[in-house]
Amino acid sequence: MSSYETINPHTGQSEHTVQLMDAAAIEQRLAAASKAFPTWAARPLDERAALLRKAGEALTRRREDIQRVMTAEMGKLRVEALAEIDKCAQACAYYADHAAEYLQPKEIRTEAQRSYVRYEPIGCVFAVMPWNFPIWQVFRFLAPGLMAGNVALLKHASNVPRCADAIKSVLDEAGFPAGVFDVLHIDNDQAAEVLRDPRVVAVTLTGSERAGRSIAGNAGEQLKKSVMELGGSDAFVVLDDADLDKTVAAAVKSRFDNAGQTCIAAKRFIVVAPIADAFVEKFVAAAGKRVAGDPQREDVTLAPMARADLRDELHKQVKASVGKGAKVLLGGEPVAGTNAAYPATILDAVGPGMPAYDEELFGPVAAILRVSDEAEAVRVANDTTYGLGGSVWTGDAARGERVAQQLECGAAFVNAIVKSDVRLPFGGTKRSGFGRELAEHGIHEFTNVKTVYVA
Ligand code: NDP
Repeated sequence: MSSYETINPHTGQSEHTVQLMDAAAIEQRLAAASKAFPTWAARPLDERAALLRKAGEALTRRREDIQRVMTAEMGKLRVEALAEIDKCAQACAYYADHAAEYLQPKEIRTEAQRSYVRYEPIGCVFAVMPWNFPIWQVFRFLAPGLMAGNVALLKHASNVPRCADAIKSVLDEAGFPAGVFDVLHIDNDQAAEVLRDPRVVAVTLTGSERAGRSIAGNAGEQLKKSVMELGGSDAFVVLDDADLDKTVAAAVKSRFDNAGQTCIAAKRFIVVAPIADAFVEKFVAAAGKRVAGDPQREDVTLAPMARADLRDELHKQVKASVGKGAKVLLGGEPVAGTNAAYPATILDAVGPGMPAYDEELFGPVAAILRVSDEAEAVRVANDTTYGLGGSVWTGDAARGERVAQQLECGAAFVNAIVKSDVRLPFGGTKRSGFGRELAEHGIHEFTNVKTVYVA
């Protein structure tokens, strides 16, 4: 297959034809990255920061054009796409402002005259990125990576090739030198070859567990550093003293924004018995107000899913869960006459052995898990192979904090939706992956943490 078509998830129409790159085109980009690295790494930090700031400004200038591409390729609501682009611009400004502090050598007292740690760039990082936040997922690794002095090659998900090209053109417009960042339109076999190339020193993936096993396995064989940001099945723990209205509004937002296709979306709603009926009633009423339709329209509040095959897969998980005893309180059947839309769906009485309990539901389907008390809520929250995020909802912040500390995950929030924030580290435990993005931790992941010791 040397070319393929992308499909608009709302209209079902062909959107764009992608030509896969041949070996010569890939070689040209690998060579350019390798050539660009030493000069880029040696460039003063304030010059790198100035370019990154310009990239942020270009994103802001071009936000309407870019949102149209996102909407056409993966169906995101216009308003959500604009918010994503703005977040990327802010991340560029943030790393431009903070990289010097994060990369500052750290003195460590020993018996030596001087001993310290330096954070040195490592080379060309290969990024394999998903379609669900097609701009943010890229800037999340790219902004810190470029400030650290690395260069990067991006293999984006096959349904968002024009988003990849938009990112490249933003960096070109900002004035980044040739070879510092480029896009590879390649398939997964070609991606495996790129990762084996000695000019690529590390890989970062955001995507499924399946992709993680394949890419981390390949990186392991090559003894190359990898960061894996994989799926999640975040718990949303509702305790008996939660503020119901605030909690329900947050539950709907966390589960149904981006058509539920968010790794850190709340997926398992673990509700203690005394408040369960009241929570469920309000949750169903509020989620039922989400309106599916054209993602460009202001009155549409539920995006279509990104691809029809993903919608079909989700529906299979719903049917299998219902077959094992889950009760459909809302939705549960694909939206007729649409390409990839699935309605806001809520399943009650979810328990072990059902896909809604055991697997990630990457779409607008909420699973209600009823428990007797706080201790059982914690046990059920941790009864998953995933460990990305989790949240606790309670009128008592100290109680919430105690519960949050017991959650086996990379980010536990109290009375707030789990979200990625450039100031805070982001990443998972268990099968949600390893390594951290964002904040100071993220910029250090792809550096050589080098000890210098002067006796
Ligand atoms: P994938 O994990 O297949 O796609 C993510 C990225 O990985 C894409 O760029 C994809 O490329 C690439 N990829 C996949 N397999 C390989 C491989 N063997 N070698 C190199 N690159 C690879 O996700 P899907 O689009 O199939 O979505 C399926 C599920 O993945 C979702 O239902 C959800 O559970 C999970 N997911 C999680 C995300 C998260 O944010 N954690 C994001 C997206 C998906 P290509 O598109 O060319 O196959």
